[in-house]
Amino acid sequence: MTDIVSVAEARRADSVGREVVVQGWVRTRRDSKAGFSFIEVNDGSCFGNIQIIAEAALPNYESEIKRLSPGCCVGVTGLVKASPGKGQATEIQAAAVVVHGLADVKTYPLQKKGHSFEFLRTIAHLRPRTNTFGAIARVRNRACNSIHQFFQERGFLYVHTPIITASDCEGAGAMFQVTALDLAAEVERGEKGVEGEKGVKGAGIDFSKDFFNRPAYLTVSGQLEAETFACALSKTYTFGPTFRAENSNTPRHLAEFWMVEPEAAFFDLQDDMELAEGLLKRIFRDVLQECPEDMRFFNQRIDKTVIETLEHIVESEFLRVSYSDAIDILRKSGQRFEFPTAWGNDLQVEHERFLTETHFRRPVILYDYPREIKPFYMRMNDDGRTVRAMDVLVPKVGEIVGGSQREERLDLLERRMREQGLDPESYWWYLDLRRFGTVPHAGFGLGLERAIQFITGMSNIRDVIPFPRTPGNAEF
Ligand code: ATP
Ligand code: MN
Repeated sequence: MTDIVSVAEARRADSVGREVVVQGWVRTRRDSKAGFSFIEVNDGSCFGNIQIIAEAALPNYESEIKRLSPGCCVGVTGLVKASPGKGQATEIQAAAVVVHGLADVKTYPLQKKGHSFEFLRTIAHLRPRTNTFGAIARVRNRACNSIHQFFQERGFLYVHTPIITASDCEGAGAMFQVTALDLAAEVERGEKGVEGEKGVKGAGIDFSKDFFNRPAYLTVSGQLEAETFACALSKTYTFGPTFRAENSNTPRHLAEFWMVEPEAAFFDLQDDMELAEGLLKRIFRDVLQECPEDMRFFNQRIDKTVIETLEHIVESEFLRVSYSDAIDILRKSGQRFEFPTAWGNDLQVEHERFLTETHFRRPVILYDYPREIKPFYMRMNDDGRTVRAMDVLVPKVGEIVGGSQREERLDLLERRMREQGLDPESYWWYLDLRRFGTVPHAGFGLGLERAIQFITGMSNIRDVIPFPRTPGNAEF
């Protein structure tokens, strides 16, 4: 029996002596003068390739095997042998090589290593075939698995909050509108002013005639809906895509990104911080343990400190520092910042990085932020000036988690909404949670891509999501 095995399995020393089939894409081919070729094949199951030895005696050696080049797809049947080569335990002596697809050397863009990440973004459909993007995909997969395991082990229920929503969670950022209207026709009608219709000249678009009989948007956060489940099922989390039309062309912002949002009844801010710290450490520990080859690659080629940093974080406590203390530290630092550091201002990434990289040199949880810079749903502190918010900041990336204890008191919540120019009427269902059996509760949002950025050391967030959506970019 010949088993079809992954490259990862074929590379294991205990596979020596087995007859196997491996299938994947050619990374390189070298021909030896002694009448055979070495073919490196990768199938994504692990970082390393399997080396294939193809003798000139194979029937398709001249016609096909000698045409193999990077990107070609093959299936190889053969015997796994111990490899004399360095960096690999095994190799395969090919008995047959089936070529599924050739890749033209002149036009296939990934002939050599070392393309810039900018260039690879223009071929997002092929970049999964590079070492870097394969490693990122495996680390991302491992992190998602850990996220689910972490919450499931703690009795958190996975809930699916909607992608299409009518409520703006926080003014978190500009939203993408969802419509089934033919906007071009609507605009034309507005310009012409069609007779007998409500669309009077210049009247704009009537979204009450749209699919949902109202304007609708892509969600910026699943939090408000997750709260409805937490206020019934106690411990919940949602994990899905979120969308922000903020025009921020930064290495840390995407228009579409994935967010993990636990929401738990009977949790206060302290519990919330512990949960966030526990989750991050769990993800880091698992990636270090389960993706050692990929992490070694990031450590060698992307950022020489990632492994050490993650190992250190897993072992140490995150600091907890109040926003007010952080402002004091920044003001006394003698450091020149572009943005002001007066109490009441939001922290910019330069401040976050100073705190985590220069001052504390490790992750920090800041808490108790001025109420003016935080959304309406965060619980008011007794001082009347600050709310029970917390952000987890990490070196290089800055904010990775944003969370809070939620305001469970109806009157205060309504007051805060008015203060922020929101109409409590349109949040009637959210306020019902405070009307009927209100409960202290808390939650946070962890940006998956920010976490992957931090783990891998990749400097641009566009390179840690398969198909980045940013202003002006949605080709793939
Ligand atoms: P920032 O101030 O960094 O723009 P934020 O305060 O708008 O972030 P939150 O609304 O608190 O972010 O969202 C929770 C988490 O989601 C953040 O801590 C971050 O990890 C992630 N996040 C927010 N916006 C983006 C984005 N545009 N792209 C990728 N991740 C994001
Ligand atoms: Mn935030």
